[in-house]
Amino acid sequence: LMQLAQPLNFIGMIYREIRQGLTDIEKMFDLLAVRREVFDRPDAVPLEVTSGRVEFRDVRFAYDPERPILKGVSFEVPAGKTVAIVGPSGAGKSTISRLLFRFYDVQSGNILIDGQEIGAVTQDSLRAAIGMVPQDTVLFNDTIAYNIRYGRVDAAPEEVRQAADLAQIGAFIQRLPDGYDTTVGERGLKLSGGEKQRVAIARTILKAPPILILDEATSALDSHTEREIQSALDLVSKGRTTIVIAHRLSTIVSADEIIVLKDGQIAERGRHAALLAERGLYASMWNRQREASEAEERLRIAREED
Ligand code: ATP
Repeated sequence: LMQLAQPLNFIGMIYREIRQGLTDIEKMFDLLAVRREVFDRPDAVPLEVTSGRVEFRDVRFAYDPERPILKGVSFEVPAGKTVAIVGPSGAGKSTISRLLFRFYDVQSGNILIDGQEIGAVTQDSLRAAIGMVPQDTVLFNDTIAYNIRYGRVDAAPEEVRQAADLAQIGAFIQRLPDGYDTTVGERGLKLSGGEKQRVAIARTILKAPPILILDEATSALDSHTEREIQSALDLVSKGRTTIVIAHRLSTIVSADEIIVLKDGQIAERGRHAALLAERGLYASMWNRQREASEAEERLRIAREED
């Protein structure tokens, strides 16, 4: 019987992930590949979200004990505000979002939502409270309506359409051969990175979580698509507690706070203008990106003149 218990437990865990509408399928595959060591405490209670305030208190974490990734990170996202996390590749930005979802437990320190330690609440209730727009969304081989409804399985067709419109993908869907019934995914119509991201945004709009994590794509999108996605993201994050893992600094100039992570520690923090005035790491990242985009622009104009 014991031999049976473990696999059954594991299947139960997968089932819960699916049922809870975990909006990031990729993360689910992560879970399948990496056996998780995170379990509900016997006395776990459901998370009660009152305003959606998130707090990291001196969080330390390592995937491998030999190699610390977060070395004492503290910050607060007041209810409804937006905090952006930036920093060099490998600094630990995505790790912060994985810890908030409790894919791993912290080594020390605390992560709190509305004052409740996330390790003390049920994982189901925790994940129901957080929406994620990942860098790269994997779609099911099913209709586009199904893929959007995944955010909230009991949503009415009209709600699915509204979410798609808000996510700036409604008009695109209506032009597809079978509209909302068009099969997408690997075996269906393949969508571009920007289209897939808008499907993820539509899902999140349906889920309407109080807390949101936006993991911005590293890959450059054309400026028109980027503007469309940005306006969809602005809309979905309005009034929600939002953490943006940002790669393009131009998208976070209006964030309530920007946290610059370097080697697992907060190197700088503040609003855009103040950080520029500091002339530190953020300012040099900003200048580098500006030069790169100006060079791109010159190249584009030169091509158009040819
Ligand atoms: P990027 O901007 O490139 O996405 P990031 O700042 O988001 O980087 P993380 O994904 O948080 O970086 O990773 C931080 C460090 O942790 C990296 O050095 C990475 O190699 C390591 N790491 C990430 N995931 C794992 C894992 N599952 N097991 C072991 N090490 C990992």
